[in-house]
Amino acid sequence: MALKDKAYYQAIADQLVLPSQAFIDGSFAPAASGAVIRSINPATGETLGTVSHCQPEDVDRAVKAARRVFGAGTWSRCAPEERKAVLLKLANLIRENSDELAVMESIDSGKPIKDCIHEISTEVPNTFQWYAELIDKSFGKIAPTDASACAMIIKEPIGVAGLVLPWNFPLLMAAWKLAPALASGCSAIVKPAEQTSYTALRLAELAAEAGIPAGVLNILPGLGETTGQAIGRHHGIDVVSFTGSTEVGRYFLKYSSESNLKPIGLEMGGKSPFIILGDTKITDDLIDNAVSSAFWNGGQNCSANMRQIVDKKIVEEFTHRVVEKTKKIAVGNPLDPLTELGPMVTLEHRNTVMRYVEAGRTGGADIALDMADAYTSTSDCFVGPSVFTNMTPEMKIAREEIFGPVLGILTVDGMEEALACANNSDYGLHATVFTQDIDKALYMARRLACGTVGINGFTEGDIKTPFGGYKQSGSLARDKGTEAMDQYLQSKTIWINVNQG
Ligand code: NDP
Repeated sequence: MALKDKAYYQAIADQLVLPSQAFIDGSFAPAASGAVIRSINPATGETLGTVSHCQPEDVDRAVKAARRVFGAGTWSRCAPEERKAVLLKLANLIRENSDELAVMESIDSGKPIKDCIHEISTEVPNTFQWYAELIDKSFGKIAPTDASACAMIIKEPIGVAGLVLPWNFPLLMAAWKLAPALASGCSAIVKPAEQTSYTALRLAELAAEAGIPAGVLNILPGLGETTGQAIGRHHGIDVVSFTGSTEVGRYFLKYSSESNLKPIGLEMGGKSPFIILGDTKITDDLIDNAVSSAFWNGGQNCSANMRQIVDKKIVEEFTHRVVEKTKKIAVGNPLDPLTELGPMVTLEHRNTVMRYVEAGRTGGADIALDMADAYTSTSDCFVGPSVFTNMTPEMKIAREEIFGPVLGILTVDGMEEALACANNSDYGLHATVFTQDIDKALYMARRLACGTVGINGFTEGDIKTPFGGYKQSGSLARDKGTEAMDQYLQSKTIWINVNQG
């Protein structure tokens, strides 16, 4: 989609009506206690407004509504074509309102408008459309038996799904979870991240307009330890799908074990490698991929390729060109369509990232580019990009997920050392490999312990391909692809004895 100018997006921002209440059982309502949390624009430091801070009693009310409508079958057992038509309508409503949603997301999270427009005008509606179109093309199975039986295996929606979201891709993560959950016939209780509630609340309005029945979709903003925990521990919630930190993922497993043993789908952190084997020609395309894999979304991306593992034969040229390209990243006002790097999502997160920058400065790595403090602006949340070289695997900045614009380069000698270095991590979400040798590419792809491998390009795949992590990056659950449906469906066997007469 063609981008408009800054004045156009600013004018939308100036006229926005921001939703402030929870969406429960088909209408907006304040938290029963009246509690609210404040929303701040990280690019300006201004308060945008408040949103309801849902308490366990609000979660309980939403779960009761979700269970009521699930039991009634209005959505869970309606004709596949009906559910499909509603979700296709929702996809179109998102497209029609994408400028407004994108501006809302940009001012709430600090994400550059050009990224918000791309995600919200294409990826988000396409996700709803793809799962909508799957609904009437998904078949059960008949197991092989002799003529004395007919054994059917069917899939049924699991019930009420709790969807707990992060702040880095607010509406896209809502879509990745909500589209398959709704397509499967589940009811949903969604908790957006406390920093970024607005687009999920606006989505609820559009969903109601599309025809999603009251109670099927409930949006409960609030804090993790109250709203999130109440979802994790609720006996009336049948499954949770979570994206966020590994630390909070552990809490959800605990909540489940201490309540109703609900399955927990986990999509968590990463420290993903970008590997360049020695046979690689350093092209502009390679450098574009290296820089965007690290600095896209300000590095606030679970699959950010922050460990760049480069063969010693080419590391010098690679480093020089990455630094030159990184210097040109446009840092600034997220509503300017030319901006590529906005502020970190909060001041607290900015301070965490700066602690890592300081650990890099004092921890033994060399600094090839240090622009972390170079940008002074309308708020204190900005962190410019840094590039560290001669990073070694045991350094703090090489092991821990920073979630900010801090790239580290490790030098290796040969493919096996690159592979060992890449796999030397508690995480296993993503990897990129650049090589001109297809045998080496496939060898690496098979041996890298992670859920997605991009060859000769940084990519998370598309809506047709599953996304999730090995090791401490995830559980067996996957977002995207037909695999995402498995989080929200359960198998039932129906065995019919056939009278042989
Ligand atoms: P969290 O894991 O804390 O937050 C993710 C979601 O879980 C939010 O909705 C959050 O609510 C909720 N939550 C937080 N604490 C609890 C709890 N005790 N019980 C139930 N739910 C809870 O991520 P942060 O936002 O704090 O980010 C911290 C780090 O997590 C980042 O620096 C990054 O390393 C990683 N992260 C990874 C993401 C990914 O895409 N894999 C996305 C976001 C973060 P609340 O909004 O109130 O905190």
